[in-house]
Amino acid sequence: VSVIEAAPRVLPALPERLSQTTESLLAKLGVQVHTQAKVAEVLPSGVKLADGRLLPAELVVWAAGVKAPDFLKDIAGLETNRTHQLVVKPTLQTSRDDDVFAIGDCAACAWPEADHGKGGMVPPRAQAAHQQASHMVRQINLRLAGKPLRPYRYRDFGSLVSLGEFSTVGNMMGGLIGGSLMVEGLFARTMYLSLYKMHELALHGFAKVALDTLARLIVRRTEPHVKLH
Ligand SMILES: Cc1cc2nc3c(=O)[nH]c(=O)nc-3n(C[C@H](O)[C@H](O)[C@H](O)COP(=O)(O)OP(=O)(O)OC[C@H]3O[C@@H](n4cnc5c(N)ncnc54)[C@H](O)[C@@H]3O)c2cc1C
Repeated sequence: VSVIEAAPRVLPALPERLSQTTESLLAKLGVQVHTQAKVAEVLPSGVKLADGRLLPAELVVWAAGVKAPDFLKDIAGLETNRTHQLVVKPTLQTSRDDDVFAIGDCAACAWPEADHGKGGMVPPRAQAAHQQASHMVRQINLRLAGKPLRPYRYRDFGSLVSLGEFSTVGNMMGGLIGGSLMVEGLFARTMYLSLYKMHELALHGFAKVALDTLARLIVRRTEPHVKLH
């Protein structure tokens, strides 16, 4: 199994230590990680890289990130970026029209260097979408009351990366405690599973999740392990 990554490290959006831990676990599993390797072409015989190398493959899984839907590109003259996200100001108003707001994955919102030590954009993650939705409710109320809008600030509570049955790695609190707390192994796995169950509970309610968990415990020996979002 080979992982081909155009960035200098896997999981480039996450802290460097998470990438290192993930890469060493993949190496232990015999996975070859090719970083700074750009795919130029997928051929019937394998994957051709931009530097001319050919990695022979019978099965290729393409997972090159997310993009907002095509219809958003320059919609009604609004500014969009290369992944068709609407460019927004810190107030979540689109850059060219103060009456149009965008939140979540479809919004390109700057994450100021002062907030986390490096520049960049607010990542397209559930925690950002959730925070922006809460901020947006307050913005609507301010707007209706004729008061000035407030800038949105992304608060990174950390990330957990599940490496299937093999391990889980993560960093907690992001930059909130002035550094980040790394978690690994059983502790990280337990946190990941409890977050996943909380997510399911929010969507399906207690009874369904309890029955589903019980049913999974019974059939887990015979069914493939797949995590569905
Ligand atoms: C496989 C996967 C795993 C992920 N895992 C994590 C994770 O572990 N942690 C994390 O923080 N984030 C994760 N994310 C990212 C997270 O899901 C998103 O950041 C988050 O859902 C964004 O919320 P949103 O409301 O902006 O968009 P969405 O949740 O995508 O909601 C957009 C909605 O709009 C609907 N829609 C689209 N077009 C139209 C249309 N024309 N008309 C009407 N409705 C439309 C869609 O059907 C969808 O329901 C994951 C994403 C994926 C795909």
